Amino acid sequence: MVKAYIGLGSNIGDGLKTLALAWKEIAGTEQIQAVCISSPYCTEPVGMESENWFSNAVAEIETSFSAEELLGILQKIEKDFGRIRREGDVGYQDRTLDLDILLFGDTISRKPLLMLPHPQMAKRRFVLEPLAEIAPDLIHPVYGLTVSEMCVKLAGENKEARQKIAKMAWPESII
Ligand code: ADP
Ligand code: MG
Repeated sequence: MVKAYIGLGSNIGDGLKTLALAWKEIAGTEQIQAVCISSPYCTEPVGMESENWFSNAVAEIETSFSAEELLGILQKIEKDFGRIRREGDVGYQDRTLDLDILLFGDTISRKPLLMLPHPQMAKRRFVLEPLAEIAPDLIHPVYGLTVSEMCVKLAGENKEARQKIAKMAWPESII
C-alpha cells in the first residue's frame, strides 16, 4: 500500500457538496483506503479569470493502485461529476470537480501526463494549507522540506501567498 495525497477543487455549483460526494466516491473505491480529509477551504481563484471562488480540500488515502491507475480512477470520477475537457482549452477553466494527485509516496515522475509530486503544489496556498492541516510533518521528496516549512516559505516569497483563503467546516449533513 502506498500513501497518497489528493487535492480536490470545485468552483461551479455547491462546491462543498461536490467535494464531499467526490470524497465518498474515492473512499468507496476498491483498492483505496480512505485515511482522512482536511477541512474545506474557500479560496480566491489564482492564475485564471473567474469570479467564482473555489472550494478546496486535501485527502489522504492508502492504495494498492499504481499512480497511473489512481489518476485514471480520479479522472473517471471527475467525468462522472460533469467536468468536460474541451479540445483547445487553454489555461485554467472553471470546473465542477478537479482531482489532482499531489504526492504518491515518494514517487518522482516527470511525465507530462503524470507529474509527481504535483509541480504546482509548492506555490499554491490552497494546497499547502489544507495539506498542513492533515500532514504538517510530511516531507516533500524533492524539496526535502516539511509541509509546514513549505507554508512558511510560500508566505515569505510569492505573491500567490497573498491568495485569500478561509477555512470552512463540512456541513454535518454531508460528511
Ligand atoms: P489542472 O489540474 O492543472 O487545472 P487538469 O485537471 O485539466 O488541469 O489536468 C491536466 C492534465 O494534467 C491531465 O490530463 C493529467 O494527465 C495531467 N497531470 C499531470 N500530473 C498530474 C497530477 N499529479 N495529478 C493530476 N493530473 C496530472
Ligand atoms: Mg487536475
